[in-house]
Amino acid sequence: MARTDYHTHTPLCLHAEGEPEEFVRQALALGLAEYGIADHMPMPPETEPYDAWRMRFCQLPEYLAWIEGARNAAAGSSLRVLCGMECDWLPGIEPWIRQLRDLYAWDYLIGSVHYIAPRLAVDDAAYEQHPIHKTAWEDWCAYAHCVLDMVQSGLFDIVGHMDLVKIWARRLEDEEFLFREVLDAVQENGMVVELNTAGLHKKCGEQYPSRPLLRELLRRRIPIAINSDAHAPGQLSRDWEQAVMLLRELSPTALIEFSHPAPTTNTPLHVYGPL
Ligand SMILES: [Zn+2]
Ligand SMILES: [Zn+2]
Repeated sequence: MARTDYHTHTPLCLHAEGEPEEFVRQALALGLAEYGIADHMPMPPETEPYDAWRMRFCQLPEYLAWIEGARNAAAGSSLRVLCGMECDWLPGIEPWIRQLRDLYAWDYLIGSVHYIAPRLAVDDAAYEQHPIHKTAWEDWCAYAHCVLDMVQSGLFDIVGHMDLVKIWARRLEDEEFLFREVLDAVQENGMVVELNTAGLHKKCGEQYPSRPLLRELLRRRIPIAINSDAHAPGQLSRDWEQAVMLLRELSPTALIEFSHPAPTTNTPLHVYGPL
């Protein structure tokens, strides 16, 4: 099966490391067919940084140059380097994302929810001590609601870490029911959902999304991309084999790989699903 990774970061986001050449060397060593770069998008306004983990708007040319560096390092090999961005979804952010989208011919955009309330991301260590809501159920409802808005905006190609809210292991029974409308909207918009392996290394100790959600994605034949969310070259395509095994186990029929056009850009993406 062709191995791909569409969710990776660069040092421009201030919490990742590695040169483009190091990522490409690792991608080639692993035999990746495609290496997609999708760093955290800049956020307005520039005068007052929204948080400490993203590039600034004025650094976009630097970001594109970084990707160009990766393309140059991969030149002459069979590795395809793709140019994307991980976009944060917040209420009212649509005009900003449209503006970013129209600046450049991105191969795809990942839509991710990190914030269910301003300024405190659910994956921030402080969130574990001070969650926005008293109950896990309220947190999950708010998160699923934000993901639904993000998907319904029709601005994105890939749903990033669909149940990131579980990161600190505050769990519910039957979480998957909260995502029923989300999955309907994903299907309507022809989006891809990522199986993000980074969660295996967090307190929740499992990939995003959870097994019941993955089972439902497979049942509905929603295309799944396996992504690492790498913040260092050594994390590129991490746990890919484990992710394939999990999908094989959960798939109602034989798991196959196929090409799916990113809905907003038409870029063909390598994805997985049942036969
Ligand atoms: Zn990050
Ligand atoms: Zn993210």
